[in-house]
Amino acid sequence: KSLNGVYPSGQPLTGVGSADALYHLHSQTNLQSHVTQGPLVMVRGEGPYVFDEQGKRYLEGMGGLWCASLGFSDQRLVDAATIQMKKLPYYHTFNHRSSDTASMLAAKVASLSPMPDPRVFFATSGSEANDSMVKMAWSYHIARGEPARRKIIARDRAFHGSTVMGASLSGLTNMHAAFGLPLEGIVRVACPYPYRDAREGESEISYVERLVRDLEDRIAEEGAHTIAAFIAEPIIGAGGVIVPPAGYFEQVQQVLKRHGILMLADEIICGFGRTGNWFGSQTFGMTPDMMACAKGLSSGYAPISCVIVHGEVFETLQRHSGKTGGFGHGFTYSGHPLSAAVALEALAIYEEMDLPARSRHLGEVLHRELGRLSDHPLVGDIRGTGFIAGIELVADKVGRMPFDATLGMGAQVERATRSHGLIVRSMGDVIALSPPYILDDAQVVDMVATLKLALDDVVARNLLTAEV
Ligand code: PMP
Repeated sequence: KSLNGVYPSGQPLTGVGSADALYHLHSQTNLQSHVTQGPLVMVRGEGPYVFDEQGKRYLEGMGGLWCASLGFSDQRLVDAATIQMKKLPYYHTFNHRSSDTASMLAAKVASLSPMPDPRVFFATSGSEANDSMVKMAWSYHIARGEPARRKIIARDRAFHGSTVMGASLSGLTNMHAAFGLPLEGIVRVACPYPYRDAREGESEISYVERLVRDLEDRIAEEGAHTIAAFIAEPIIGAGGVIVPPAGYFEQVQQVLKRHGILMLADEIICGFGRTGNWFGSQTFGMTPDMMACAKGLSSGYAPISCVIVHGEVFETLQRHSGKTGGFGHGFTYSGHPLSAAVALEALAIYEEMDLPARSRHLGEVLHRELGRLSDHPLVGDIRGTGFIAGIELVADKVGRMPFDATLGMGAQVERATRSHGLIVRSMGDVIALSPPYILDDAQVVDMVATLKLALDDVVARNLLTAEV
């Protein structure tokens, strides 16, 4: 293999790009088109910006993957990591061991959590945190003498990760077919998606009631005694930034409670400020039995995730583990001291900046500016609560007609924003924004102005193509 590869397009590829195309098996990427398209390789970060190999600067409107809450060059996080690396670069949490940073982080996360008497379990990725919630839900029911409760209710359009269980819980079909997933025992229900799925003339209240009735029916069909838990993102992220209607989670939760089914909140995107509160559960009236968090926990600077466990669930697990010789779950890197030190510092910064208030303020600016795009011919729906947004592109605004998927309109907009020095994410024809909280108001205004330029470019290009 030569490092000086030539793409089938004829474009010569050298250096890092060539190494990447020849040797790197990418995450969540079309492996075939990658060879012709090549990688976008970032080499440096500064504030909310990242710089590619050629030195081109981009405003990271997604904070990477919804996570770099403090941008890409926070000196305090760098110092926290450096100090910890010198002091104690590794220790673990098996068999009664811990590090001072892991213990302190557990206490800090517990103090921020809205749950009564919480305990905090650590892992390294969001997927592991979700897998851990499922295992703890199973263990909880076994401990209470209901081992038949194995099924997990998960929703359409959900994204819960890429591990075997995370992908199974996810409701995105591209994560299933190629792998022969989902696993058995996943009960799929609809998520509320008012823009697409509410019936004509149906009020929000009736729509929610219909979804809740469907959930009740589904539980009756499966048998409540076979169901362990229901899992949901407060705002669906990768499935299209879908905000739940008022009252939805409260009503779902009443049903779950009646049937002894645990509520698991996937706060991996929403946790740590995104929706204008510390946790999305607080914004949307959820009172979960466990919450999975990651991403913003360390501002993405070091891999760490956690599950915050309700005191009552913990006590049950605790009693059971006393009888059975221990809690047989956990990872080599659970509570990794380096990640924990970075997370502790990130949380200190979030508290100093009053992150929930900052998120609400920036969210107001963002949604005010995005509101100006509502007349744009490509824009069908603009959604979000706090500093997160989804913009759904449509072929026909009035009829809400989607574009033919083969046009790849979302991908076209994403490419156009990139040429203007802005990174957004297209998920089908929904454009997502989840920017760092270090932007000032003017940068938020600029970001939306850049997005408009890109939308205009795409309109112009498609008109030209239509004329040809
Ligand atoms: N849940 C949600 C809501 C997510 O957005 C993600 C990651 N985008 C995950 C789970 C999985 O996290 P990870 O990639 O760290 O495993």
